[in-house]
Amino acid sequence: MPINPVLVVHGGAWDIPDDMVEAHLKGVRNAATSGWRVLGRGGSALDAVEEAVVVLEDDETFDAGRGSFLNRDGKVQLDAFIMDGATLRGGGVGCVERLRNPVRAARKILSDSPHVYFVAEGAERFAEAHGITLCRNEDLVTPKEIERLKAYQAQYAGDGNGKDLFAPSGSREMLSHDTVGAVALDSQGNIAASTSTGGTLNKAPGRLGDSSLIGCGCYADNLSAAASTTGWGEPIMKLVLAKWAADRVQSGSLPEWIAQEAMNYLKQRLDGNGGIILLDAKGRFGIAHNTPRMAWAIQTSGKQEAGIQRDVK
Ligand code: ASP
Repeated sequence: MPINPVLVVHGGAWDIPDDMVEAHLKGVRNAATSGWRVLGRGGSALDAVEEAVVVLEDDETFDAGRGSFLNRDGKVQLDAFIMDGATLRGGGVGCVERLRNPVRAARKILSDSPHVYFVAEGAERFAEAHGITLCRNEDLVTPKEIERLKAYQAQYAGDGNGKDLFAPSGSREMLSHDTVGAVALDSQGNIAASTSTGGTLNKAPGRLGDSSLIGCGCYADNLSAAASTTGWGEPIMKLVLAKWAADRVQSGSLPEWIAQEAMNYLKQRLDGNGGIILLDAKGRFGIAHNTPRMAWAIQTSGKQEAGIQRDVK
């Protein structure tokens, strides 16, 4: 039986304001089109998620690559992960400051290294040694994000004693969560996943979120499912949510239901907010979020769909 490829992408889950909806939809559509170019010519799920995520990293609408949120010091610090469901090989980078497309470096780690993770300067050195040109951190910083950081720090000014500046937890779902991700099934029956982020606004330098942590923000196994999550990273991390969801698909439940269950679990267990895309090797998928909105796109043969909300069952 021929296998029909599927690609699902997301561009973050939060209360996306009306005036930003079009940009989000355009971004996820472009990413789906780019990933599909790979799948449509018989390429691998791994290549497809990489290409889709590159497009989202290059789009300043999202919190990935250039235009990401700034950390407390006003720098961009990026995390990304990519995983191959056929071999369980993974590649991740964390806290990198000089890579335009961290997913490209993550892919090199997956393909060319016996390791799974590189962080900070070591990750940049690995990338450079594998043909990736480094940029300056300033090249990743946009004026819009400088303004956003200033406004945030003015609003949540600390006590002047070096205390972390943080929005109260109740207001966090109102903060932007524009992390990006993709999951794909190729014509060989293999699945893959990738997630890329600039993390949370005003994060402490060196803070690593869920996005690049295996099983938390991203996971893929042909025997279970491919998953990419977004949202407030610490609760997602504590629940190892991507693997939690994939395991339940392996136990026979439909990705559509498990995606929703994962969001309920996140909310009920840790009052966490976020979204997930989940896809199994049969091409069955789920998209769910417990935030008001989430940008998503689905691409199958001859059909592309995109939206800013997914009906809660
Ligand atoms: N999960 C990301 C993090 O905590 C942020 C996001 O998804 O927007 O780093």
